Amino acid sequence: MGSDFCTQEAVDEKVQKAAEVKEEFSTKISAQNLGKKNPEKLVVIGGGACGMAVATKIRRQSDFEITVLSRDSHTAYSHCGIPFVLSREIDNFEKLIVKSPDFFRKNRINVRLNENVRSIDLGLKTIWTGEGIYPFDKLVIATGSLPFVPRKSRLNVLPYGIFTVRSLADGMLFEKAMETAEKVCIIGGGTIGIEFAAAFARRRIKTILITRSKHLLSRQLDPDIAEIVRAYLEALSVEVISGEQVVFPEGFWKERILQVGDKQIPADLVLLASGVKPEISLALDAGIEIGKAGGIVVNEMLQVKVGDEFLPYVYAGGECVEVTDLITGEARLSQLGTTARRMADVIGNNITGKRTALGPLADPWVAVAGDLQFGGVGINSEKAETNGIKLVTGFSRGRTRASYYPGRKDLFIKLLFKDDHLVGAQLAGGEGIKERVDALSLAVMKKATTRDLLDMETCYAPPVSMLVDPLRPAVKAAIRNIIADDQTK
Ligand SMILES: Cc1cc2nc3c(=O)[nH]c(=O)nc-3n(C[C@H](O)[C@H](O)[C@H](O)COP(=O)(O)OP(=O)(O)OC[C@H]3O[C@@H](n4cnc5c(N)ncnc54)[C@H](O)[C@@H]3O)c2cc1C
Repeated sequence: MGSDFCTQEAVDEKVQKAAEVKEEFSTKISAQNLGKKNPEKLVVIGGGACGMAVATKIRRQSDFEITVLSRDSHTAYSHCGIPFVLSREIDNFEKLIVKSPDFFRKNRINVRLNENVRSIDLGLKTIWTGEGIYPFDKLVIATGSLPFVPRKSRLNVLPYGIFTVRSLADGMLFEKAMETAEKVCIIGGGTIGIEFAAAFARRRIKTILITRSKHLLSRQLDPDIAEIVRAYLEALSVEVISGEQVVFPEGFWKERILQVGDKQIPADLVLLASGVKPEISLALDAGIEIGKAGGIVVNEMLQVKVGDEFLPYVYAGGECVEVTDLITGEARLSQLGTTARRMADVIGNNITGKRTALGPLADPWVAVAGDLQFGGVGINSEKAETNGIKLVTGFSRGRTRASYYPGRKDLFIKLLFKDDHLVGAQLAGGEGIKERVDALSLAVMKKATTRDLLDMETCYAPPVSMLVDPLRPAVKAAIRNIIADDQTK
């Protein structure tokens, strides 16, 4: 993304500088390589969920000399917790830091923050940051994603008042800006936009959520389940506008007005949560293959591809790589902390000699907005239609506790079957969503049939469930729909 703004002069200067540095160091590196054996050098680019987990895993399993390079000002923190600091359910951003710099020092992991990697030289096996050259025996690229800023809006985006929140530092900056804000506009109807909307509503800040899709969470949920999320947000006094594109007028920073369809909406702050795209610029410049979905192409061991070959000494993981979809078999992205963490295990094992493969993914996910939890796994109806997959669904509305037990909440379950096999599930409710999504994730992975799900034994205690889990009526509804569907054939 950054390169879009580079002038030719700047590019030439960079190339020239890189060539000089290469020459200067190639002799040094060759000499070093001659004498070197142990310990081997591991360089990780990216100090986020995948990068830090790779570093710590490899530290536990080997004697590599480990360097992590990150342009972020913090490391080892939970991105996922940012909305909950902004909602003030978590006291401050420091609480999201799960491992201190001291932990890494003690574990002989050299973490270099605020250091931007400028280029990877695969031939010389070196990384150049502008501040230094780092030789490697093994390299891990875990550069994550960049917030997606609609191309049309770029010129008008980024003046004061318009924010993206990807890192802890972004969160802190936004928190500061919110101190004086009375009205915030969020652009993007995905999980993160919704979590932020609920957070601001909790602080009684007037919040407007705008999505250009027809309904919220259009990449994950069907309209009927998304409607439950919308109704909940509206009950929190969040204004939800769907099916409309936002235009940032030239002088947004002065006038603080957005054009949404034929409406003008004043806002003190705008938060862009319109998705992310993989940060692949370094890999691309190094000649590493980028796939159709926009991420780095990797094999099942998460090794990157150059020409016809997967390199046994360069791995990539996290949001910057492509994965294989379990249901459609197509290459896609997986923008989840859980996937990044899993990939770190795979990379760590492969680098330390325990051959491990990453298979196709179904991406179970869950999000929490105020008192509503929602989540899912596998394919949704829109994606199925695009891929020519015919689905039959089953829906149920149940409760989360026994009828007499106080505090019971609604629970909505939608199951999606292809040829009688479970290929997707979508849930929303007041509690008990994560556990059910996880169970259904296994069912999708194991290609469970309606019969398997009917035969599934579930547990019960009044404060946590109904005697008959609401999952069962959803399966029964699907069976009725499958029979009805067969009869119309
Ligand atoms: C607000 C928010 C809430 C989220 N909530 C959830 C959730 O509830 N559940 C869930 O599963 N996921 C959630 N996610 C997604 C999850 O955080 C990401 O999927 C995960 O962090 C991806 O890990 P990663 O290592 O690929 O990328 P990141 O964690 O983003 O790490 C990328 C790293 O690369 C560094 N980098 C990039 N380019 C360079 C360069 N040229 N030089 C040096 N360093 C570089 C960056 O500085 C960063 O340190 C959330 C994300 C956000 C932003």
